[in-house]
Amino acid sequence: MRTIEATRVIGEARVLAGLDQGRLDRQRHLWIHGAPPSLTRAQYTELAEAVGLRGRGGAAFPVALKLKDLPNRGIEAIVVNGSESEPVSRKDRLLLTQSPHLVLDGAVGLAHALGAPHVLLAIHDAAAATSVREALMERDDRLAVEVSDTPGRFVAGEARAVLSALEGGPAVPPGRRVLPTRKGYHRRPTFLSNVETFAQLAVLARLGSRGFSSTGLSSEPGTQLLTIDGAVQRPGVIETPTGVPLDTVLQFAGAEPGPVLLGGYHGRWLPQTDGLTLQRPEVSAGIVLALGTDTCPLGEVQRVAEWLASQSAGQCGPCVFGLPSLAHDFARIVRGEPSDAKRHLMLVSGRGACAHPDGTARFLASALAVFGDDVRRHAAGGCGRPVLGVLPLPGGAW
Ligand code: SF4
Repeated sequence: MRTIEATRVIGEARVLAGLDQGRLDRQRHLWIHGAPPSLTRAQYTELAEAVGLRGRGGAAFPVALKLKDLPNRGIEAIVVNGSESEPVSRKDRLLLTQSPHLVLDGAVGLAHALGAPHVLLAIHDAAAATSVREALMERDDRLAVEVSDTPGRFVAGEARAVLSALEGGPAVPPGRRVLPTRKGYHRRPTFLSNVETFAQLAVLARLGSRGFSSTGLSSEPGTQLLTIDGAVQRPGVIETPTGVPLDTVLQFAGAEPGPVLLGGYHGRWLPQTDGLTLQRPEVSAGIVLALGTDTCPLGEVQRVAEWLASQSAGQCGPCVFGLPSLAHDFARIVRGEPSDAKRHLMLVSGRGACAHPDGTARFLASALAVFGDDVRRHAAGGCGRPVLGVLPLPGGAW
């Protein structure tokens, strides 16, 4: 797998502050960020509401709403979801590896404010888990903080799958949809969010709403982490103000002209990039993939469709049977044969116990819409381009 280059920043470095000099141990972390303030639950809620902070995983759920949905007492745990199972994303493992104390400050500070006795970090990447364990040796957080290894499957990063894995069960979403704020870790109220969310909370606690809002959009100010990859000269994780123009990010990374996928493999292909700004929820987990023009787009999409089908947790019919059918449809399209893709897309949408079929359908439907000319070229004999493996997949198939 290709190595991601060093972190870079457009504008002001906040969550990536100090990382140009390498990993932040406790001493350097405090020197760069200062000591974390001790805030109450009401203060966290007011701050998150004032800046419209949304979760930095795929769902982009407002943090203040999540806090308000928790009961007044009896909160069992803060869960940091570091499973980052989207194969393109690097931002969370980068934070855990390079700036673990910022993430821990956010999670531990909130745990104290909510009276939660546990902080649990679910981490897939071995280097990230080691970094957090080392960081914990340098701290005295006065509550139980544990790091758990999670499997790397795509659906293992779903919130309920993470909770199941933390409880010792399989890392798959259970068949019922329940909110972790009501029935989370061991069926007790739990605040669960993505790694970057906790780093942003730690920054917000230090800067206050006014300082935090000095950059970015007025609707959701601050900065965001983006992972940019594919046909680019400088792949990596970039911190930008929210609402940065997509073209600025593409230029910054040295992207080749061509189609762009926004939001990863549950995201969507963009018909054009002009005038588009990067903001939640569209930016989802912060993934920007440039395809370039040398590879066959439909062949690339078919590879990912097959991989997504292999990631089903095997418990919902529309997902278990529908996603392989869709992968088969795309193989037929690549060969220039008629397919049932449009009908199968409708059949899988809204039918699974988790967002995997819907996200896969969104990715594939946007491919059909954006690559319509290529579909016609393939039907007429092919587009003449090889499949270069520009879209990264686990296992090194680039
Ligand atoms: S929709 Fe698919 S991935 Fe999600 S729970 Fe059902 S079988 Fe598993």
